[in-house]
Amino acid sequence: MLMKRLIFLFFALLMAGCGPLDREPEMITIRGVVFGTYYTIIYYDDDGQNYQEPIDSLFRDFNRSLSFYDENSLLSRINRNEETAVDDYFAVVFRRSQEIAEETDGAFDVTVFPLVDTWGFGYSDRSEIAAEKVDSILDFVGYEKVWLDDGHIRKADERVQLDFNAIAKGYAADLVGKLLESKGVTSYLVELGGDLCAGAEKPDGTQWRIGLEVPAAEADAPQEWEYYVEITTQGLATSGDYRRYYEDEDGLRYSHTIDPSTGFPVGHHLMSVSVFAPDGMSADAYATAFMVMGLDQATDFVENREDLEAYFVFATDEPEAFSYYASSGLELLTRDDL
Ligand code: ADP
Ligand code: MG
Repeated sequence: MLMKRLIFLFFALLMAGCGPLDREPEMITIRGVVFGTYYTIIYYDDDGQNYQEPIDSLFRDFNRSLSFYDENSLLSRINRNEETAVDDYFAVVFRRSQEIAEETDGAFDVTVFPLVDTWGFGYSDRSEIAAEKVDSILDFVGYEKVWLDDGHIRKADERVQLDFNAIAKGYAADLVGKLLESKGVTSYLVELGGDLCAGAEKPDGTQWRIGLEVPAAEADAPQEWEYYVEITTQGLATSGDYRRYYEDEDGLRYSHTIDPSTGFPVGHHLMSVSVFAPDGMSADAYATAFMVMGLDQATDFVENREDLEAYFVFATDEPEAFSYYASSGLELLTRDDL
């Protein structure tokens, strides 16, 4: 399934302001599909070079290491205990995952995979008796049950399985940014399934403008935005369950985000959170952690962190109504600011 995005890239606005001067760097846009989602890469290059090929080859290498869908990926082999030695991609994403797990008291935890699978968001359909299985599965869930030892993954229990879905997209966006920088490109915006990594400002000196989606009641409702933000050299990721959930016979919504402390899908009034962090990988992971924490705990967390900002959308008691909270360092812009 190709996932919907929670953000908008303003193509028209991106181009506005670029004068018809000679030797202006050329804007290149590359679009495609990777990790079951869409990507859009926009950058300015003096020679107007297209880097599609090295980007595709980066995605291939990345998938060989971290793909959740490829049963021969390093991740799949480590999950089946056929391999313990990690490569660089794996080591980076694993180390950052463990740091964020510690900081968030386990709200973000890449060992949730067995739970994700039981609840029907992994390889299998939802188990009829998912709720009854949770306790026994929790025995082998927990970030402290897996560690890296001299380039090898060690598990306290061989049933431990890893899931980088909540961090890998952001990391891949960062890697595309690094690749472009290695080609001399500084001004870029990489968007991968709604997760972003922005480089330096555009040649005309303006920042990258990103629209924040207004939540919709139905998963297939048209997308609309009310606020936008301007970003440079940072990551932005959005987590939200209002487009990805399922309803059971009783109309109960199940999110694909699991609370590792209970083993159950999160269910509270926080509908989505967009996180601004120094890099895409961190933004991606914190966004999932904040969905687990819920509004009160997550806003406290953000306000105590110089390096993070966030935009929360939450349901109110009124039917079909929602409200938002923007952290104190975040500047929300409206159509009037355009
Ligand atoms: P979102 O757009 O909501 O951030 P992602 O695909 O980035 O969605 O992350 C959701 C995925 O992360 C789930 O499908 C699951 O594989 C994994 N996941 C669920 N709960 C957690 C958690 N508490 N910590 C880390 N990963 C999780
Ligand atoms: Mg995410």
